[in-house]
Amino acid sequence: MKRLVVVGGGNAGTLIANLLAGKLEITVIEPNEYHTYQPGLVDYITGEVDETKIQMPTRSLLKPSVKWVRAKATKIIPEDRAVVTEDGKTYEGDYLVIATGGQNKHIYNLKGYHGIDDSKVIRNEVLNPRGKNFVIGSLPGIIKCPAAPWELSFLIKRKYPSANVSVIVPAKQPPPLQVPMSNMFNKKANELGIKVYKGFVIEEVNHNERYVVSTEGDKITFDHLIIDTPISTNFTEFADRSGLIPVDKSTLVYRDGVFVVGDANNTPTPKTGAAAHFQAEVVVNNILAEIEGNRSKESYDGTAMCAVYSGPNEGMLVWLNYEKSKALGPTSIYRYMKKAFTSLYWASLSGGVDFVLKPLVESVRKN
Ligand SMILES: Cc1cc2nc3c(=O)[nH]c(=O)nc-3n(C[C@H](O)[C@H](O)[C@H](O)COP(=O)(O)OP(=O)(O)OC[C@H]3O[C@@H](n4cnc5c(N)ncnc54)[C@H](O)[C@@H]3O)c2cc1C
Repeated sequence: MKRLVVVGGGNAGTLIANLLAGKLEITVIEPNEYHTYQPGLVDYITGEVDETKIQMPTRSLLKPSVKWVRAKATKIIPEDRAVVTEDGKTYEGDYLVIATGGQNKHIYNLKGYHGIDDSKVIRNEVLNPRGKNFVIGSLPGIIKCPAAPWELSFLIKRKYPSANVSVIVPAKQPPPLQVPMSNMFNKKANELGIKVYKGFVIEEVNHNERYVVSTEGDKITFDHLIIDTPISTNFTEFADRSGLIPVDKSTLVYRDGVFVVGDANNTPTPKTGAAAHFQAEVVVNNILAEIEGNRSKESYDGTAMCAVYSGPNEGMLVWLNYEKSKALGPTSIYRYMKKAFTSLYWASLSGGVDFVLKPLVESVRKN
């Protein structure tokens, strides 16, 4: 049996391991005992759900035949399709998948909100606010899910309708693929009295006196500052200028037998679990095409689709590929879809919701 080593048991790594379980001998290298459903962190931070809804034991999400090594990878040797873990052990495969996601850069003592620990600190502040002046946003660069700061602003406004909520957006104009989504967010923010600072690039953060200053000298004060920071791969030796690992954007191949999937790669698409999911499926198909020879290889075209909060009581459905994008809504149905996915996510990690997901994505694409 061919061997596959997967580094990172998050969204993409878990799905790949489960879809190939029984067909290859699979080892997943993942240090965390619990898997966090990151899109649910906005609900967690604002007190809509507790930890039990957005975390599951890593082992319980992997099929029994998948071997889980609870360790951090410290070195990757692509030419051998091998990984060395912190205890010095080496794991070698016929195939290697790097699915280590993106790590927050810690700048200006800002931590982002990608994990449960950082999010817990923010949650405590949001649920016990010292004031009602919330400033939310991001630093320039590639962040996870560009919708998340907006979602947080809408959920905080839902919780505290009289709060002063501001959103900092570093770019003056969104990237073309994010225009439909951005237009809808801006329109809703305007209706709700959420102030949007476009082109505000943070240059100074004063945590004691509680203000931020932009490169252009504009100053915003805050009681609570929730700023996401850009991501990069922790395997910087393989990164390109974007800070992520370059791949062929159709095949996700880094080199022969080595794939990089999800947030860790440099595909020109917003970093979403939806993209990680569809990328994972292409890689699974193409590994099976090589091993079993009974199918043709597929290409990833940049497809992703997410339901996101787009107001206190609404959601929208964002669909995109490498070429185009659209935003549907806002409606309460899409808000419900976003909420429902908190439960459906766990099944999606074994491909269990594809029978609904795939036709839905196809119908939105054609619409
Ligand atoms: C607040 C927030 C809201 C979001 N909202 C949405 C949304 O609405 N819709 C959507 O589609 N996406 C959303 N996302 C993005 C989505 O969660 C990510 O794009 C997705 O999780 C990426 O999957 P991945 O497998 O590439 O990385 P991850 O799921 O982050 O998994 C990476 C795994 O690699 C492991 N790892 C890291 N380094 C090592 C190492 N050295 N050795 C071994 N293992 C390692 C980590 O522990 C982790 O388990 C959101 C993200 C955040 C933070």
